[in-house]
Amino acid sequence: MIFRTFTRDREIGANSYLIDFDHTRVVLDSGMHPKAEGLDAVPDWKSIEGQAVDAMLVSHAHLDHVGTLPVFQRHHPEAPVYLTEPCGMLADALLHNSVNVMSSKREEHGISDYPLFTHKEQEDRFGKWNFASFNRPVHIGDNGVSAQFFDAGHNMGSAGIMIEDHDTRVFYTGDVNFEDATIQRGALFPEEQVDVLVMETTRGHHPRDPGYNRASETERLGQVIAETIAGGGSVLIPVFAIGKTQELLMMLHLLKTSGAIPKAPISIGGLSTKMTTIYDRFAHRIRRQHAGFELLKQMDLKVSARRKRAEIQYHPGAIYALSSGMMTERTVSNEFAFKFLQNPKNSVCFVGYADPESPAYQIRNGQPGDMVQLNSERPQVQLNSRVETFDFSGHADRESLCDYAKRLQPKKIILVHGDLAAQEWFRERLAREMPNTEVIGPQPGVAIPLR
Ligand SMILES: [Zn+2]
Ligand SMILES: [Zn+2]
Repeated sequence: MIFRTFTRDREIGANSYLIDFDHTRVVLDSGMHPKAEGLDAVPDWKSIEGQAVDAMLVSHAHLDHVGTLPVFQRHHPEAPVYLTEPCGMLADALLHNSVNVMSSKREEHGISDYPLFTHKEQEDRFGKWNFASFNRPVHIGDNGVSAQFFDAGHNMGSAGIMIEDHDTRVFYTGDVNFEDATIQRGALFPEEQVDVLVMETTRGHHPRDPGYNRASETERLGQVIAETIAGGGSVLIPVFAIGKTQELLMMLHLLKTSGAIPKAPISIGGLSTKMTTIYDRFAHRIRRQHAGFELLKQMDLKVSARRKRAEIQYHPGAIYALSSGMMTERTVSNEFAFKFLQNPKNSVCFVGYADPESPAYQIRNGQPGDMVQLNSERPQVQLNSRVETFDFSGHADRESLCDYAKRLQPKKIILVHGDLAAQEWFRERLAREMPNTEVIGPQPGVAIPLR
């Protein structure tokens, strides 16, 4: 029995992993690399080419976990796909949007591998997805293997997955958050002993400020918004379409209701609108906070059409929650920033992760008066607006992941979904605190024996 990572590096890339029970082959996730382009963005599945796969299990609807699912299904039409229903609905919308993004990259940058799949193909593949319920085992193959999904608290429908046969129990955390957020409730993970723990390590090189708490962070966001609007400016909050947008909207609603911020108009745009519609559709049906609260219906949001990114008009005294979160070129938040950043009355608030190569990272780490390159084909813009960064991460902090690992007492821990420094922090710490556990940072493609 072996584990193998299909990522091309030890990083947060195109996540995809093999659990091979000898008699039954299970693949976890089918991600797209957030930075690589074309076929380099697809997991390296060479080692299972031509071999039958008994199931594909998807942890959650973010591109780095589900972005190449139609490609995997083309290679392995025999493999049933399992994911939760909210995850499935978000993933379907995400994959259709990805076809559009890939097609425009083909046109603008001549990336001939794109699109990796078409709308028609995604439509056909979607028909083969099976919706798994939390905490109810799904049977895989004919040799007594089962999989069970557990709420991972990361975004709507996100799951950690237990995969086991009569002999060996493997738990994959996926991306996990143990703490309650504003809509999302913290993970409900199993606590029983496992043989192997495959664990995300995203925040391994980010110690958390000991004084941190989410409530005071929310309060600080409210203060920045209130001050900016009182000074005659507006607030831009670049957000990821799935999860972060909806968390932020709920937060803004609560801040308004409590009187912490004025009743300023809130605009959303980009892919966020579509994803918020799907969140609302499940508002009554899933385990969450503020159950039944429908953001689009109950918040009087200004919603702009998805494709018309140039159309968002700037007004003073307003809040703009626009995707993408990293202000990637040709997204709504990026386009909107061109005029916005030059105005010293405005504020930009960052509430999520920014890759070092992204425009969001440049702005976050810039000084007043710096020139910022928002789009490689357009002139730089001067950064005059106020910039603030907040910690509303959807990932567990490193201490709580270590505590979780200790409670599960696995014989082996496999570190995934983190850059090298992050994985090394976990490897060093866990090796010290769990001397009887083998802690492994898996090299791409290398088979790791599990029993
Ligand atoms: Zn994620
Ligand atoms: Zn991820």
